[in-house]
Amino acid sequence: MESGLGIRNSKLREETIINPETGEKSVKMGGLTFPPRRVWMKTYGCQMNYHDSLRLLAHLKNLNFTKTEEIEEADMVLFNTCAIRDLANQKFYSHLGEMKHLKKKKGEKLVIGAGGCIAQTEGKHLVAKYRHLDFAFGTDVIDQINDMVFRTYSGDDRFAVNTWDRSSNFSIETKINHGTPQAFVNIIKGCDKYCTYCVVPYTRGRERSRKLVEVVEDVKKLVKYQDVQEVTLLGQNVNSYGKENGENLAQLLYELEKVEGLKLIRYTTSHPYDITDELIEAHGNLKKLSNHLHLPVQSGSASVLKRMNREYTPEHFLERLAKFREVNPNIVISTDIIAGFCNETQEEHQATLDLLTNAQFDFIYSYVYSERKNTRASGMDDFLTDDIRGERLREIQKHQLDLQLHIRKQMEGRTYRVLVEKEKTFKGETKWLGRTNCNRIIHFKGQPETNYKWHWVDLKVLDATALSCQGVLMKDLGTLV
Ligand code: SF4
Repeated sequence: MESGLGIRNSKLREETIINPETGEKSVKMGGLTFPPRRVWMKTYGCQMNYHDSLRLLAHLKNLNFTKTEEIEEADMVLFNTCAIRDLANQKFYSHLGEMKHLKKKKGEKLVIGAGGCIAQTEGKHLVAKYRHLDFAFGTDVIDQINDMVFRTYSGDDRFAVNTWDRSSNFSIETKINHGTPQAFVNIIKGCDKYCTYCVVPYTRGRERSRKLVEVVEDVKKLVKYQDVQEVTLLGQNVNSYGKENGENLAQLLYELEKVEGLKLIRYTTSHPYDITDELIEAHGNLKKLSNHLHLPVQSGSASVLKRMNREYTPEHFLERLAKFREVNPNIVISTDIIAGFCNETQEEHQATLDLLTNAQFDFIYSYVYSERKNTRASGMDDFLTDDIRGERLREIQKHQLDLQLHIRKQMEGRTYRVLVEKEKTFKGETKWLGRTNCNRIIHFKGQPETNYKWHWVDLKVLDATALSCQGVLMKDLGTLV
């Protein structure tokens, strides 16, 4: 059954009631009345999770919840968890443990829920172990959050829901008003790749894509009714988009290029194996497509990539990069690197350093390998110590920063058009921060008392280091260009 935000199976619906005397809003659902309440939310992990959190908030708004940044004033605390890295895992368990004290202080008035990837695989265990946790929910029941909150307020004892949505098509609508010109749009969920180190296929399920016409209609509505100018198409592996429907990402990008009013299209995350010639050509042909591409390589060693089950070789990866740069010389490419995968030798590590030199990435996200339970890599031989891993990570990061400095220096003296996102104070100095089409951040000082938020401005780069970029305002184009 369609709720406007996603598939819901429940027959219960929210009904808004305004008190004619006080003007106060309440919401009726089933036999319960929901007065205005506040929800505090903590999100861990990737953009998919952040997007899911926005969907949760959009649903909860229909149940009279508004977001608060102050946990002490919350009526409900929600965690949206990530299982990809050990650090995010540990942070979540520590936060959840601390909640015991808040629950004790606020008593039954405080509801605590945990969703996302950890809750998908360990939801039952979580509610059994943490007595102050009211409910846990997996990644495929995000759109049923109000039904679960209803169950909790109805007095249902602690429960976990981690069912998979088995409907044949993946159909949702991005009805989320962030009040910003930027929007994330899910196009595919799940992953069929089974990289040996990754839990995503177990926490997010098999790949399923939305139909191309549905995504295009969705984006048209975002542009028309919510003044959205920039969309980021989201999925664990967007390059697999549309396979089951005989469609593909390149076709979708060509259709989105035609959407009037849309200025910029980004997509993430890509898998190098699925990058087609047609997609590369789109980067040469489409004006609205971002000049930035995030293409995770993970390692520069053919043997490590094989152990990771990444399905490509370093040569294939570099060949794809060269083709992207041939069709679009302005393209800026970033990547992810895992340092110290199972049994990585010094030669294999060196191959990653060499790949960084050859690929000339604009920036990288790098991590030490962290074993995830039940993945194939967790059963592999591994003689590496944490010290070796840490040392290799530092070496990778230092090498990349040297390369990055050289790449970024070339920005000096050039003018870039950026969309201003926010003001930020650093070391006592307040500056505006904007993002270029190629996803580089430039800081600038504007005119005092001018609010540049969501303005398009032209900035000339005066000073660029490996990690920051300072510019001067050349032209303020206002909110729409
Ligand atoms: S492509 Fe590999 S790393 Fe990416 S989500 Fe799928 S299994 Fe995980």
